[in-house]
Amino acid sequence: MAPEKNKQKVCILGSTGSIGVNTLNVIRGNAEQYEAFALTAKSQVDLLFKQCMEFRPSYAVMLDSEAAEELRTKLSLAESSTEVLDGMSGLNFVAGHDDVDCVMAAIVGGAGLLPTLRAAETGKKLLLANKEALVMAGKLFMRLVKQSGAKVIPIDSEHNAIFQCLPIDDHARFTSHSGQGVKKIVLTASGGPFLNNTLSELKEVSPEQACNHPNWSMGPKISVDSATMLNKALELIEASILFDLPAEQIDVLIHPQSIIHSMVYYLDGSVLAQLGNPDMRTPIAHGLAWPNRIVAGVESLNLAEIGQLNFQQPDEERFPCLRLGRESALSGDSAPIILNAANEIAVAAFLQREIRFMQIPVIIEEVLNKQERRTVKSIEEILEEDSKARSLAKKLTNEK
Ligand code: NAD
Ligand code: MG
Repeated sequence: MAPEKNKQKVCILGSTGSIGVNTLNVIRGNAEQYEAFALTAKSQVDLLFKQCMEFRPSYAVMLDSEAAEELRTKLSLAESSTEVLDGMSGLNFVAGHDDVDCVMAAIVGGAGLLPTLRAAETGKKLLLANKEALVMAGKLFMRLVKQSGAKVIPIDSEHNAIFQCLPIDDHARFTSHSGQGVKKIVLTASGGPFLNNTLSELKEVSPEQACNHPNWSMGPKISVDSATMLNKALELIEASILFDLPAEQIDVLIHPQSIIHSMVYYLDGSVLAQLGNPDMRTPIAHGLAWPNRIVAGVESLNLAEIGQLNFQQPDEERFPCLRLGRESALSGDSAPIILNAANEIAVAAFLQREIRFMQIPVIIEEVLNKQERRTVKSIEEILEEDSKARSLAKKLTNEK
């Protein structure tokens, strides 16, 4: 009898979120090739319990220790053999575990930074959804990847599209693209739910409206980021780091249908694009299987039914976050860390109805103007800048 083929062991950081659930969906459809080795969440006991019962991972980690205790009790009553860990130490443990082949980094926000870095420094195949980690620690992250030989596959749909359109070597290394005939890259943006709203209408929008994205179903934070277009600002910084291109060579183009996920312009006039229905299972499946392909469960693209694809220039007056992102990307200092931290605080305050939608960019810009910029190298310096910006943003949101 032929020996059973080894399955790839996957650690999902943030398995209860939108990306996490989609990742499990793809694993479920390809169970002969992949298995969940570790699943993690902040505090959602019921969903993590359900996931553990179905996928039987070796480890489950909850950031919150009380939630971990509750999960432990439930699993032990159900006679599950999954071991429950807690805290940042638990997240770092599973992200760097020797048995793990592949880490899906899908915790939202700066909270995902340390375990994502752990996966990078231990040389994993790293499926990177947590863009905030890269925005905060881009240079450090890329250095760790280089030293450890980790393979990074971007999961953000735009960056995954660019990854698919660039010449990439066997090790998923994609540096020095200016030397490979790349003229520029174009990040497409749906424009979010408020693409056609006037400035005065934007001042009145609610968290529910902001979270109601026309094309994508995502967690609340990234949904608000898409509505302010700060998401595209983070993505511009993300692209600049991942593909080693200056921000001047990265354009943003509004494409409301979200069918073309991004494009690469070459010196000879060729433009390569990646197309597909807006469904995160496509980049997730691409990342899991890379360099091969697997079924993602996504409906086949029907261009005749869609009829037309539209494009327009972004409007930085109604969406000032785009300008703030470009300025931060060009700065070469701690501006991206400050931008990201101030945004996380402002978005949380908006979701709590403490500030209005159009105050989000105002707070980010005030924090960017007030906080002294530095060149940061170590993780300690990054965390220090991040925490300073969060305090300042909290102070400003309280004053609004
Ligand atoms: P989400 O809010 O749906 O899920 C977040 C996950 O992270 C949950 O499992 C949650 O338990 C966990 N988490 C939250 N705070 C935590 C903390 N402090 N410590 C440990 N775990 C914590 O978010 P999402 O929409 O799945 O997005 C995840 C990441 O992927 C984000 O960085 C987002 O920008 C990126 N991303 C998401 C999409 C999408 O379609 N949802 C697309 C592109 C990129
Ligand atoms: Mg994206």
